[in-house]
Amino acid sequence: MPKIEKKHERPESSRTHVIVGDGITALAFLQEFQGDAGDHVIVIGTRASQLGRGDAYARGQEDTPWRFAYLLNSPADDIDPRFAAWLADRWSQVAETMAGRAPDWLSAAEPLVAAGDIYGVNAPREFYGDFMEEQATAAITALEARGITITRVDDTVLSLELHQDGVTVCTASGDRISARGVDVATGGPSTMRIEGDNGAFSAPSVFGHEHRIAEHIKSGAEIFCIGGNAAMLDVLRLCQSLVPESALRFKACAPDGEVPAPLIPRLPRKLTQPRLTQGHRTAASLLAEIQGEIDRAQANGDEMREIRAGFRAFFLENPLSLFLSDVEQARKVPGQLRFWLRGGTRDTILDMHRLIKENRVQIVKGLVLEVISHDTGAEVVVKDDGGSTRRLSTGFVINCAGAGPNSTYDPMTTDLLTKGLLEHSAGPSGLKVGQGCQLGTTAVRYLSPAVSEIGDEVVAMPLYDAHMLRSYVARARQSV
Ligand SMILES: Cc1cc2nc3c(=O)[nH]c(=O)nc-3n(C[C@H](O)[C@H](O)[C@H](O)COP(=O)(O)OP(=O)(O)OC[C@H]3O[C@@H](n4cnc5c(N)ncnc54)[C@H](O)[C@@H]3O)c2cc1C
Repeated sequence: MPKIEKKHERPESSRTHVIVGDGITALAFLQEFQGDAGDHVIVIGTRASQLGRGDAYARGQEDTPWRFAYLLNSPADDIDPRFAAWLADRWSQVAETMAGRAPDWLSAAEPLVAAGDIYGVNAPREFYGDFMEEQATAAITALEARGITITRVDDTVLSLELHQDGVTVCTASGDRISARGVDVATGGPSTMRIEGDNGAFSAPSVFGHEHRIAEHIKSGAEIFCIGGNAAMLDVLRLCQSLVPESALRFKACAPDGEVPAPLIPRLPRKLTQPRLTQGHRTAASLLAEIQGEIDRAQANGDEMREIRAGFRAFFLENPLSLFLSDVEQARKVPGQLRFWLRGGTRDTILDMHRLIKENRVQIVKGLVLEVISHDTGAEVVVKDDGGSTRRLSTGFVINCAGAGPNSTYDPMTTDLLTKGLLEHSAGPSGLKVGQGCQLGTTAVRYLSPAVSEIGDEVVAMPLYDAHMLRSYVARARQSV
């Protein structure tokens, strides 16, 4: 069994390697660890004892109606074919766990299951966490069999001190651990704050605020989401887990006023094969070509799942610099690509379209500037395309806006930024790390969904994606 302990003996620093974080990226760093017998790896994370889950695939609270309500945004085999096989192997157990739950996940999965395509379902995120925890146990067992000691410590890392011969890692509980090297994988930034988003009738995020939000949903309040992406879809699932659809009153405000495309898997699986020419001088010219390829794929009948997964595979094989060598110009590409290839959870988006038709869900086009809590509900100040503002009265507001200009990072990332080891990208957003994810020294590597530049390479597709993160950790090892 792996050791899980709070305080640990001080191993010899030249044989010690520290991994900070406990999500899929931290686990990928552990899986790729290349040490020898006698080495010691210490994984320090908020919940290192559940290594592999991180924030995204955390274990839910027992007996809450919304446990298992939140789903992966893509078909299981787009996240990881091994996970899809794991899910299919346990299907009867999965079906038993999901039976009788609202929303009715099993019925939504039924057309895929009937077609023999369990690999295509949008699994509850908690199941992916179960799978990743098993992967963590397997990785630890394999490393221990090689004579490498693994210690997991539930703690928060606050800072790093770089020395000539290594690094000292300083934790919130007062530990100072000397190590030869450190891999940092502490996750992405917080949702950007919007004025008034933490009031009597508003919450700054859905995650961790479910109990309070649930009271308002159950009382029949209209729920208003700021933002139209993945977290908003989670809020809809939260509502569906608590009240019958006939009692649902739900609004979401998004700048484009649109619902993302559902990622619908088809058999046989297909990936769009983009054809891009090299030697572009401007982002505009490359983007025009990409837009043409997306149009061509759509004209050929490709679904958004096929287009998105096809571009992801393409840019993992072919770096953006191959097509556009000017970094300044390349920085303009990922945001547009992310917007064009937006897609999300099939089950929820199909529900959403049905509920829009039934007038239980409405999409508001605009940008929320402020939330004002009154005595019995909230008011949302929304700016439209033309710059004029209007005020909408609602029941309870949830900030699902995602990362933005005033997002904050965890203490470790903040420390690295303050010390200048990690940089903000000169592009619209994101972080810049060196070749092989190194931070100016071979002793420290950093990877999180917020990383948008690695060495001279602007990452074409955002790293808010389990498959991409794992792929880039594997690359970091190869480049060392
Ligand atoms: C709610 C949610 C849903 C998502 N859904 C999907 C999806 O369906 N499909 C997909 O591909 N991607 C999804 N993503 C994107 C997701 O970011 C990546 O897939 C992936 O989970 C990120 O893994 P990570 O290990 O880099 O970060 P995280 O999962 O965020 O893990 C980082 C961990 O490090 C811990 N930590 C942070 N700071 C410190 C510190 N200073 N010291 C110690 N520990 C620290 C955190 O508590 C956290 O547990 C989702 C993200 C979120 C937040």
